[in-house]
Amino acid sequence: MTSIAPGATIGILGGGQLGRMIAVAAAQLGYRTHIYAPENSGPAADVSPRWTQGDYTDAAALAAFAGAVDIVTYEFENIPQAAVDQLAALGHVRPNARALGIAQDRLSEKRFVCDLGGRTAPFEPVDSLDMLEEAINRIGSEAILKTNRFGYDGKGQARLSDPGDAVHAWSTVGRQPSILEGFVRFDAEFSVILVRGADGAVRFWDSPRNVHEQGILATSTVPAGDPIAAQVAEARALAAQVAEALDYVGVLTLEFFASPDGPVFNEMAPRVHNSGHWTIEGAVTSQFENHVRAICGLPLGDTALAAKSVEMRNLIGHDADAWETILTDPAAHLHLYGKREAREGRKMGHVTRLSF
Ligand code: AMP
Repeated sequence: MTSIAPGATIGILGGGQLGRMIAVAAAQLGYRTHIYAPENSGPAADVSPRWTQGDYTDAAALAAFAGAVDIVTYEFENIPQAAVDQLAALGHVRPNARALGIAQDRLSEKRFVCDLGGRTAPFEPVDSLDMLEEAINRIGSEAILKTNRFGYDGKGQARLSDPGDAVHAWSTVGRQPSILEGFVRFDAEFSVILVRGADGAVRFWDSPRNVHEQGILATSTVPAGDPIAAQVAEARALAAQVAEALDYVGVLTLEFFASPDGPVFNEMAPRVHNSGHWTIEGAVTSQFENHVRAICGLPLGDTALAAKSVEMRNLIGHDADAWETILTDPAAHLHLYGKREAREGRKMGHVTRLSF
C-alpha cells in the first residue's frame, strides 16, 4: 500500500475522547476525519467534520462509510469482528482485524502472549460455576475473575479472597465467559507504548508508571523510576514481538505489573491509550500524531521525552469542575473532553504537567 497523503479522509470507529485526540492530530497533519459510532454525538464530534451514526451490525451503513474514507482505524476495541472484517474487505483497516480480534478477548490475548514466551498471572478459562470452582482449586482463591469481553476500567471484574466467594463472583461478572487470574503481588504498574510503521519500524515512548484507583487509571508519570526502569527492556522486547507477530501498524499498548519475578503482562490495547496522553506535550511526537503517521504510511516522529519529567492526571467525574483552579498553575496543560454530564467514574479530561 502506498502512503495516504494529507487531504485524505481517515475513518475512525468510535467517537470518544481517543477519537477526539486522533482527529485533532489528523487535522494538524492536513487530514480530515469521519467518525462512525452508534451514538449520535460524542467527544470527537466537536473536532471531526463528518459523523455517521450507525450500528456496528449495519452492513449497508458500514459499506457507505468505507466508500467515504481512505483508511479506517478505531479508538476502542469492543467492535464486532464482522464489522471490521467487512471494512477490511472493502479497504484498509489499521491496526488489522487480527490484532483487534486477539485484543478484545482476554483469554486469546493471554494465550497469545504466553505462546510468545511472555510472563502472565496464572489463568484458567471459566464458562460455568463448576469451572470456576475447579479453577480456584488450581490457582488459589487469591484471584480476580474477569469477563473475557467488554470489560474496561475495572468493570466486569470480581475480586476473590476465599473459595466461598465463587458464587458471588460468578454472579458479579454476569455468568459470562471469563478468566480467573491469580492475584499478582506487584510493586508498581507500567505500560509499554509503541508505534509500528507500515514499513515495520518500531519506536517506543518512555514507559510511564501508572497508578489506578478503583480500577481506573489515575496518573501516569515518566520517568517511571525503580523498580520499573529495570523491567522496561524485557517488557519492550515482548511488546515488539507482539507487534511483529501481528504485522501491526499503529500505536500498540501493553500493560504490565512490575513484580519481584520481572514484568507480568496484564493486557493489551490495539490503539492509543490513556497512559500515553502525556505524550501530547511531554514527548517530541505524541501517540496520536504517530498513530496517524503510521496508519497513513508516513515516516514516524521522534518519541523522545520533551521534559525532565511529566505527570498526567485523569480528571474523573467531578474532578473536572476544578478547571479554574487547575488553570491557576501556569505549567498545567488542561484537556477537557467536552462531555456534558460528569458521572462517577467517567473520564472527563486530564491534566499534564511538565518539569524541566
Ligand atoms: P484490568 O482491567 O485488567 O486492566 O485491571 C484493572 C486493574 O486491576 C489493574 O490495573 C490492576 O491494578 C488490577 N489488577 C488486574 N488484574 C490483576 C491481577 N491479576 N493481580 C493484581 N491486580 C490486578
